[in-house]
Amino acid sequence: MEIVMLGAPGTGKGTVGKMLSKEFNIPHISSGEIFRSYSQKHDKLAEKIKSYIDKGNLVPDDLTIELVEKRLNEKDALNGFILDGFPRTVAQGEKLHEILTAQERAINIVVYLDLPDEEIIDRIVKRRTCPNPECREIYNLEFKPPKQEGICDICGTPLIIRDDDNEETVKQRLKTYHETSEELVDYYKKQALLYTVKLNKESNVTTMGLSEEIRSYFE
Ligand code: ADP
Ligand code: ZN
Repeated sequence: MEIVMLGAPGTGKGTVGKMLSKEFNIPHISSGEIFRSYSQKHDKLAEKIKSYIDKGNLVPDDLTIELVEKRLNEKDALNGFILDGFPRTVAQGEKLHEILTAQERAINIVVYLDLPDEEIIDRIVKRRTCPNPECREIYNLEFKPPKQEGICDICGTPLIIRDDDNEETVKQRLKTYHETSEELVDYYKKQALLYTVKLNKESNVTTMGLSEEIRSYFE
């Protein structure tokens, strides 16, 4: 099962991606997490990656493709995956198609989470993240608060606010999204792979039963 998550930052791709990963027992592969974990290193490349992320800009395609392709070739990903944050440009989408074709695979479904911009900023500001690289659970103070304030339910690590989850960077991320990623929606619509989930102010992706919907889509 090859699933791609599409949607602006803060729409819930990571949350839904992790849910689907547990449900279907295939890895959740997030390009943002790959970059965040790489940027913890102390080399030149790590610094460069961090500077793109912190400005809300995209990491260049060649570097992105290199890191994601490496991850896609790891053993656990060969039976399927939930890709979150990649592709983010049509060029990346075409490259992904090439990689999968060479492995005699193809994308089964693109889950597109569609939420108005006004809602996005509010949601991201309320996002809290578990920094434990083995866990990286995502919380939302309104929709999915941790049981104990500021502490990860799963692993007990103190939660953090991501460096790029401030209003200014979020606005730039949204601008980048509209300029470069939105055309992917059409790209996948034309291939009849798009499964659109319309969200609004009240929608809670953690309680919407999306896994069931997607499962029935496959049946
Ligand atoms: P969000 O979707 O909430 O913006 P992500 O964790 O997916 O967060 O991505 C964080 C940052 O990592 C992005 O703002 C961008 O700088 C970088 N990034 C992630 N995926 C890609 C990608 N496919 N291509 C280029 N840059 C990316
Ligand atoms: Zn945790």
